[in-house]
Amino acid sequence: MDVLVKGMSADQGLLVVGLVDTDLVERARMLHDTYPTASAAFGRIISGALLLSSLLKEGQKLMVQVVGEGPLKEVVAEADWKGRVRGYVYKPHVHLGLKEGKLDVGRAFGNGYLNVIKDLGLRDRYQGSVPLQTGEIATDLAYYLRTSEQIPAAVSLGVHVDTDNAVKASGGFMIHALPDATDEVLEYLEERLKGVRPVSSMILEGAGPKEILDEALGLPYDIIETKEVMYFCPCSKGRVLDALAALGRQDIEEMVRKGETVEIQCQFCKTEYAATKDELLSLLEERGGAEG
Ligand SMILES: [Zn+2]
Repeated sequence: MDVLVKGMSADQGLLVVGLVDTDLVERARMLHDTYPTASAAFGRIISGALLLSSLLKEGQKLMVQVVGEGPLKEVVAEADWKGRVRGYVYKPHVHLGLKEGKLDVGRAFGNGYLNVIKDLGLRDRYQGSVPLQTGEIATDLAYYLRTSEQIPAAVSLGVHVDTDNAVKASGGFMIHALPDATDEVLEYLEERLKGVRPVSSMILEGAGPKEILDEALGLPYDIIETKEVMYFCPCSKGRVLDALAALGRQDIEEMVRKGETVEIQCQFCKTEYAATKDELLSLLEERGGAEG
């Protein structure tokens, strides 16, 4: 089971979040048929979105999008307040040579941007965007938190892809320095984090999110939330027809003229939907379609 744990340090100065999501990242890898470098990028972005989603309130969701000039081009993950995540990889068949024994996610993205779009409900949207610092995602997310949300934070993400291309470990942790954090604690943490092992190594040895936080922090903290996280796509035929209706009347009429069944695949979960000519006709009648 994939689990996220949220906690608060005893002095209330640090908000900490630990995550192990190996099973859902392996599921995402299989669904999207990603090659190892793309799998590592996808897994880190999925984990990053889940870590950020731990701070959402009921009904809210967010999207982490990384766009670069490199071969991966674009990877997206959406996560909601319940810990449900889905995503897609624009170019899944990317695998580059290793860099110092690690999958070279930074080079696969190249120069680019990390965007965070939050849907806070009631049409309240927030968007933050930062240029990629390393493209390795964890440092980019920390940079985003510091510059866009003014939160001093440390983020670590790790994905281990095995020789059979399967994801054998995925997870991470995030530490926010709250206004009550003392300089003493922050200095301690900065030193401590320099020596922390990669989270993928901890997970390969069987660590859960709590063990990851214990090892990273080395400080007492109280767990305030534990929840299961999962890969989940809420798509349905109705939603696909809604999306078709949004294409506009002319496009739908064109499909009807061709008289073919329209095949649509959900980009997040790869479910195939088919809209028949009759369904297209009733879309035109019932919903009218948007103008143009
Ligand atoms: Zn779907």
